[in-house]
Amino acid sequence: MQQQARRGVCLVISAPSGAGKSTIAQALRQRDPHLFTSVSVTTRAPRAGETEGQHYYFRTMEQFREMAQKGELLEWAEVFGRGYGTPRAPVEAALSEGRDIVLDIDWQGYRLMKKALPDDVVGLFVLPPSLEELERRLRGRASDSDDEITKRMKASLSEMSHWEEFEYALVNETLDKAVDEAEAVLKAARLATMRRVDIATSLKSLLP
Ligand code: 5GP
Repeated sequence: MQQQARRGVCLVISAPSGAGKSTIAQALRQRDPHLFTSVSVTTRAPRAGETEGQHYYFRTMEQFREMAQKGELLEWAEVFGRGYGTPRAPVEAALSEGRDIVLDIDWQGYRLMKKALPDDVVGLFVLPPSLEELERRLRGRASDSDDEITKRMKASLSEMSHWEEFEYALVNETLDKAVDEAEAVLKAARLATMRRVDIATSLKSLLP
């Protein structure tokens, strides 16, 4: 079958913080270096070990709002009183070049992404094995204060209430299994008939 560039898939992974979505997204990128990494903009301060342009673009609230106003963000939201957003241009360029993207954002972002790019976005929700385990994982992040952890646990429950809005869901019990499952979702999305421009093109003149 003649190969013609298909549009990329934008896999949006959401989860309560601490459920492991960034680790899963990172592992997917390691397995497939051709996956495009979208770096979000945030107004929160960098955590230890986070670098500008790699984990996030760290901006002031004023700069963030200006980007949103100019339409430079494909979606944006305020989470825990801080702004987070996905830069538009790199995502649109990657999809039209046929590169798949893994986006690691919250449910509000997913909803907006699905609205902005309904044919390109596939949603995967990652659940923790239990709430106890989620709290244990959150406490492992030494940079967050007790107050912050309590806030995040509350936000986690609220985030989890949206899991059924996503096309797919997985429970992150062991990382390897979770990554295998996320990879299977991505593979299935690539095979969706509406993305098989290559097949459509080559069969066009042959089929009645
Ligand atoms: P954290 O501060 O722990 O890195 O992220 C806090 C929350 O913001 C997470 O749920 C994360 O997925 C979400 N987030 C990160 N980047 C974006 C983004 O570009 N857009 C939206 N809507 N949420 C984001």
